[in-house]
Amino acid sequence: MTLLDGKKTAAEWRADTARRVALLKSIHGRAPKLAAVLVGDDPASATYVRLKAKACEECGIRSRIVHLPADATQQQVRDTVRRLNRNSSVDGIIVQLPLPSHLDYKDLLQLISPGKDVDGFTPVNIGRLALGMQCLPPATPAGIIELLRRNGITTRGRRVAVVGRSNIVGRPMASLLMLKSDMGDATVTVCHSATPQYELEAILRDSDIIISAVGAPGLVKAHMVRPGAIVVDVGTTRVDDPSRKSGYRLAGDVDFDNVAPKCSYITPVPGGVGPMTIASLLHNTLTAFERKHSGRKS
Ligand code: NAP
Repeated sequence: MTLLDGKKTAAEWRADTARRVALLKSIHGRAPKLAAVLVGDDPASATYVRLKAKACEECGIRSRIVHLPADATQQQVRDTVRRLNRNSSVDGIIVQLPLPSHLDYKDLLQLISPGKDVDGFTPVNIGRLALGMQCLPPATPAGIIELLRRNGITTRGRRVAVVGRSNIVGRPMASLLMLKSDMGDATVTVCHSATPQYELEAILRDSDIIISAVGAPGLVKAHMVRPGAIVVDVGTTRVDDPSRKSGYRLAGDVDFDNVAPKCSYITPVPGGVGPMTIASLLHNTLTAFERKHSGRKS
């Protein structure tokens, strides 16, 4: 069994991004810039935004956090996004989710200019991805593809089970895997909460690659995984752990201790998909900057 080390792979990817950023800065006289819109005081969201800003800085990408109060109105957040769309020094925009419950996140996400949508969440980018057109792909599934690619794993002709069909992970993951390309061309089955348990187990047992994005610790058990399978665990759930100073630990969807010995490759949680998601966001910001300067649209 080989561990798919997301930390190491993401560090290599970020180093490539940093080299490209330095080159483009010397050509265009400025570095790419990411703007993150943070609404309210949710500690986890604030931490994620800070981590993204720090990762940008380490790659030479400039960043700006636009922090709005928890009671910001829909109109105020809309105006902020529109201002960032018009700001020519901003190349990428993200709206950190989840937003306070009084805000309509779908309405806000679709306001982001598709060429600056570095999370890849707008209907235009999702639609372009589904049609196999040039787009900015959602960061987590694109990060998973890069994790596989950089570790010498191709998906062509392989049976892949994607568990979960959310708009940010499962659904775009399936779209990427179905593209006509070296890192696509897979035979994809998508499972979700309405998939009967016996069906889920049969599909997973029949798959060369399993990508689980549910948020249910222990969902993927050893008897559901065929020997030699490749398992990518996207799930990240906080579970109580009094033995830790923080009082919790992060758990994936996969029963790692029992599944790992059967696999050819497996991602850990944490340290698997998470670091690749941030590296992917940086890569998308660089791509948005490059396309702007080459005059191409998203
Ligand atoms: P989500 O929006 O809650 O979607 C969960 C999906 O799982 C839904 O499609 C749901 O089906 C499906 N599901 C629920 N129970 C199931 C079951 N028993 N069997 C099969 N499918 C089931 O979650 P998400 O945003 O995609 O995130 C999923 C997990 O990945 C979470 O733990 C999240 O924290 C983690 N995550 C990690 C990263 C990272 O960078 N590491 C990034 C994003 C998300 P229905 O559609 O039928 O409800």
